[in-house]
Amino acid sequence: MSATIDSRRLTLVDLSDEEVEHQILHAGDLYPRTNADGQPLFDANGNVLLNEVERAEMTSKVEQKFAEIFDIMRIDRNDPNSTDTPFRLSRMWMNELFAGRYTAPPKVTVFPNRKDVDELVISKNIKIMSVCSHHWQPISGACSIGYVPRDKVIGLSKFTRIVEWFSRRGQIQEEMGEQIADFLVEMLDPIALGVIISSKHYCMIARGVEAQDTSVMITSVMRGDLVSNQALRNEFLQLIGEQ
Ligand SMILES: [Zn+2]
Repeated sequence: MSATIDSRRLTLVDLSDEEVEHQILHAGDLYPRTNADGQPLFDANGNVLLNEVERAEMTSKVEQKFAEIFDIMRIDRNDPNSTDTPFRLSRMWMNELFAGRYTAPPKVTVFPNRKDVDELVISKNIKIMSVCSHHWQPISGACSIGYVPRDKVIGLSKFTRIVEWFSRRGQIQEEMGEQIADFLVEMLDPIALGVIISSKHYCMIARGVEAQDTSVMITSVMRGDLVSNQALRNEFLQLIGEQ
């Protein structure tokens, strides 16, 4: 397994940009699909439910590896500010920043749409706190969700839990919006659904192009009547303040 990774590391240096791009596109062909313990690997924004023993084991291994990184980067852990940092980092990644990779989906109760509500129901400015898969830097922003119910409605506070579950992973914003929309379509079968995310990407602010920290990325996912009905779409965008 390590031979596969090592050979890739060696060859990438000598490849043209096109060849590197090809290798990245076909990364699935180059890397193992299981880890050293034979456990299946999955996408950064995927999910698998861990029990408490598995979680404790993973957290402790992550802590050990962070300690190794400190040694490699020659950070002295006798420095009192760094002594427990591998411990803190492992807990932060497992229990907070990547929590949505290892926990069960939020319990969401669906209610009958008894009054035949057929107008937009909107929840605005739901907090997005995520991490970009490419650089492991924070993505911070807000999400607005609107839907026109068919037979089912849910409590608006549930949107927060659903967004939290999908955002606490390694993400790219485009896929995060699609994942949230897919989950809600599956659960509610709404007549229309829109998911708008607006957020700051710290991989663009702290590094790379070093954009202003006011620059934001906006993504929009529309489903059902919000795709076909322009008036409804305009109303939705106006109500959430994007138009
Ligand atoms: Zn990034």
